[in-house]
Amino acid sequence: MSVALYPGSFDPVTYGHLDIIERAARVFDRVVVAVLGNPRKAPLFGEEERVAAIREAVATECAPIADRVEVATFDGLTVEFARRRGADFIVRGLRAVSDFESELQMAHTNRKMGPDVDTVFFMTALEHSYLSSSLVKEIAQLGGDVTGMVPAAVERRLAARARSV
Ligand code: ADP
Repeated sequence: MSVALYPGSFDPVTYGHLDIIERAARVFDRVVVAVLGNPRKAPLFGEEERVAAIREAVATECAPIADRVEVATFDGLTVEFARRRGADFIVRGLRAVSDFESELQMAHTNRKMGPDVDTVFFMTALEHSYLSSSLVKEIAQLGGDVTGMVPAAVERRLAARARSV
């Protein structure tokens, strides 16, 4: 059985991420979405909320593949977590050339630490190429409309956050 780990901050999950999850599920038998507990930048949403939003979004918007997608949190080395989950592959998404440099460096570093775990890249879908979690947070915090950028599970959580500040 082929297992792929899709690591990221997912703060919050966007349609760009969901598209990568769906496409990875066409290639691999199981996709483990690995939510980084403590990303470098302080996250807007806690890890439990980020996990809950991904689970809800996958269940409602990616129903045909939902039973092959698992969502978990992790801290520490990605390759170590991949090994623990039996994943031979790490999945990442590439949007623009600007993503390439850091992704290349990360892929080489992970390969050095875990030659048995390879990184596979999916090019962003054209309609999601502009999307990033930070952009979505900024729009929502300024009272803008994020319809079509994030699943309903995230829209609701962003609106609740905006009301509470
Ligand atoms: P990180 O903090 O590790 O960059 P993100 O949650 O921002 O985590 O992204 C996780 C992965 O998903 C990264 O490989 C990123 O390039 C990819 N990704 C983010 N947004 C999109 C998008 N709109 N289209 C395709 N891939 C994306």
